[in-house]
Formats: sequence, structure tokens, C-alpha cells
Amino acid sequence: MPNVPMVGVFDTAFHQTMPKKAFLYGLPYQYYENYKVRRYGFHGTSHSFVSKRLAEFLGLDINNSKIIVAHLGNGASISAVKDGKCVDTSMGLTPLEGLVMGTRSGDIDPAIMEYVAKKENLDIAGIMNVLNKKSGVQGLSGKSSDFRDLEEGMNAGDERCAAAVEVFCYRVAKYIGSYVAALNGVDAIAFTAGIGENAGVVREKVMEYLGYLGITLDKAANGVHGEEKVISTPDSKVKVAVIPTNEELAICRETVALVK
Ligand code: AMP
Repeated sequence: MPNVPMVGVFDTAFHQTMPKKAFLYGLPYQYYENYKVRRYGFHGTSHSFVSKRLAEFLGLDINNSKIIVAHLGNGASISAVKDGKCVDTSMGLTPLEGLVMGTRSGDIDPAIMEYVAKKENLDIAGIMNVLNKKSGVQGLSGKSSDFRDLEEGMNAGDERCAAAVEVFCYRVAKYIGSYVAALNGVDAIAFTAGIGENAGVVREKVMEYLGYLGITLDKAANGVHGEEKVISTPDSKVKVAVIPTNEELAICRETVALVK
């Protein structure tokens, strides 16, 4: 198709505004210089779309706002967005860093890799396979990476399913807390993607941890599935909302803007 313009929309692009202090690892500097080892982040199309939509939906001025987006799907990441620009995000050089995910471990002590490699007689590829495909809530529960199954298990008294959900929510809450520090405050928080849009139990558990910010949950509103809705009470100091992501629409918009 020689006459058709081709556009690449990079999922890392939105995170390029992160300052050096957020994207550098505590590694020998030459790895950054020589191999470009740094934090890039992912789900950028979604974090960009949802942060803008949240500001619109709540009537906030995006250019004067502190927003945290929790993109919780099978892959999951959080971002801190100041005045419409990303200042930090939880995924790194690869999508393995950060939250506990469907099958990814997220943050771990890197020394675990050597310890388990010796115990299980695994090479680097074997370890990476475990961390990407056999860990997360799937590895913890031994049952499923899908929160519908985990909720079912939890309600039936399965302790490992319950632990998987608790570990997932606790990690999300800790990241949000650290991004409140990064932003020196927060105006609004959005939940998005498969879990964020549908799993009321996850939203409720995460918001319980955030009570110290003056956040209170509107339990009735939290019954929402896949539609835009404020789920904090009117007197909550920080607004919390479900904002369905739409990466396809965001990619279309970027494409139109570029080829026009
Ligand atoms: P995503 O990667 O954004 O498509 O999200 C997929 C994940 O969302 C699934 O693996 C489930 O864990 C979760 N999910 C989807 N629908 C529901 C639902 N109705 N209730 C709870 N979790 C859901």
C-alpha cells in the first residue's frame, strides 16, 4: 500500500515526560548510556486517554491537576499524571515491573531469581518464564488469573484465592500511596481496564487503604460495571471514578492528528 500513510502509536510515548529521577534505575550508569536500560512504562495510550477523560468527566482543569490512573487488567500498571503529563509509572524496561498482575510477579527482590534458579535448576529463560507466565495472582492462587474465578474461590472459602486478591489490592494501594508522594497530593483517581472497570471488591479494598487521604467509598455507586461513574461519596476529599479505557479510540485520534 505505497500511498497509504502508516502510523505507529507507541504504548511508551505518554511516559516519555517522566523525569530522570523517575526513569533511572540504581544500576551502573553505563547500562543506561550504552544499552538504554531505563524505565519506559507501558499502557501509555490508556493512561493518556483515561487521565484526560477523568479530568473532563469531573470538570477538572487538566493543566492544573494531580491525577492517578490505575489500569488494572490482566497486565496492570499505575501512573501519576501532573498537569496532563506523566511523572511516574509502575512498569519499567519491560511490563514485568510494578504491580502483582494476572501471571506476572511485578516487583520482587531480584536476588530471588538466583535463589530459585538454583533450587529449581532453571536458567535465565526458565526464570523469566516463571516471572512472566506463572506468577502473579495465577501463581499465588494456583487456580486462575481471572478475578471472576478468584472472587468465586474467595467466597467459597479458598484461602489462596483470598490471599491472591489481598496481595494484589495491597500492592495497588501502596503504589497509589507512593504516587501521592510523587505528586505531593492528588485530586482524583481513576480505575480502568478489565479489573478496574468491573471488580467492585478490588476497588473497595484499595479504597479502604486510602481512607487516610479522606477518601470514602460510595458503596452503591461501586456496583458499577464498565461505565463512567464517580464511586467516592460527595464529601470525599479526593474524587475516585471508574473510567472505561478506549485504547482503540485513542490510537485513531493520534493517527488522525498525525496524518492531517
Ligand atoms: P483486560 O486485560 O483489561 O482485558 O482485563 C482482563 C481481566 O479483567 C480478566 O482477566 C479478569 O481478571 C478481569 N475481569 C473482566 N471482567 C470482570 C468482571 N466482570 N469481574 C471481575 N473481573 C473481571
